[in-house]
Amino acid sequence: MIVIMNHRATPEQIQTVINHVESLGYRVHRSDGTERTILGIIGDERPLDTENLEAFEGVERVVRVLHPFKLASREFHPENSVVRVNGIEIGGDQLVLMAGPCSVESREQLFETAAAVKEAGAHILRGGAFKPRTSPYAFQGLGLKGLELLREAREKFHLPIVTEVLAPQDVSLVAQYADILQIGTRNMQNFALLRAVGEVQKPVLLKRGMMATIEEWLMAAEYILVQGNSRVILCERGIRTFETATRNTFDINAIPLVKQLSHLPVIADPSHGTGRWDLVIPVSRAAIAAGADGLIIEVHPHPEQALSDGAQSLRPDRFASLVEETRRLAEVLGRRL
Ligand code: PEP
Ligand code: MN
Repeated sequence: MIVIMNHRATPEQIQTVINHVESLGYRVHRSDGTERTILGIIGDERPLDTENLEAFEGVERVVRVLHPFKLASREFHPENSVVRVNGIEIGGDQLVLMAGPCSVESREQLFETAAAVKEAGAHILRGGAFKPRTSPYAFQGLGLKGLELLREAREKFHLPIVTEVLAPQDVSLVAQYADILQIGTRNMQNFALLRAVGEVQKPVLLKRGMMATIEEWLMAAEYILVQGNSRVILCERGIRTFETATRNTFDINAIPLVKQLSHLPVIADPSHGTGRWDLVIPVSRAAIAAGADGLIIEVHPHPEQALSDGAQSLRPDRFASLVEETRRLAEVLGRRL
């Protein structure tokens, strides 16, 4: 249930409603918009009486949110949420580009990629230090050493870092190095991990589970939001379908639909969404045109030597072309790069 305060509601009136709802044993999440304050009531709302709440001064209306996700819903937060990362606004007018290697492999590889993506216009550097690999025999990432290299690259190239965290017990370590914590597709329903990232005040890039419905994905976001971390960024990275010609099927529908259902920013990952470097640019165009707030792109200076995801990695010159195309597209769409 959400309580929409009217635009003239005083701070005292808002507090009175919060105190009343809390005294009944519910938790209240407050969202102060530009026009009005909205209170999200968390808990089993069936016994709550809407009319009672509507009698409080300053309350405009009380709405039962029909979706199972509440804090992630547009009803709770009608304006787009903007997640700020070191001065970069994700979810505003600007399109945000995250780029870098699938895995951090060495200082040389990371720095060469970071220099190239920075030069091309990327805003955020990606790179995995802890890698969730299908095979236990495949390269698992450099771990702590990878995080240290990411920190060096962050300082040298002035790029914030997005990197994956695989386990709840690693969250505090990874949070010391990352500007954005990535939850990978395989962990989208790792509820202990979702709770753990909900407890730190770091933005979270929440990838869609490869077999998750949009509702399950938004419920995963809800786990993070309800812990008190409001800085969630969604990432569509393709889902499994019967089609085997591509690694995944990039769900273009998800982008405008999630933007309707939720206020959270949405980033597109056409690298994992297609699994093929030659499809990355065309699918990026489609994602931006469909309303994505930015892209996350795998880039490698020598894709044929990559320790993971070489087939879907762009060479730096192709990434630079993608940036130029995105810039032109942004203009047409009334956005900025
Ligand atoms: C990645 O970003 O390299 C990655 C493993 O992504 P996903 O979880 O979407 O497969
Ligand atoms: Mn990858």
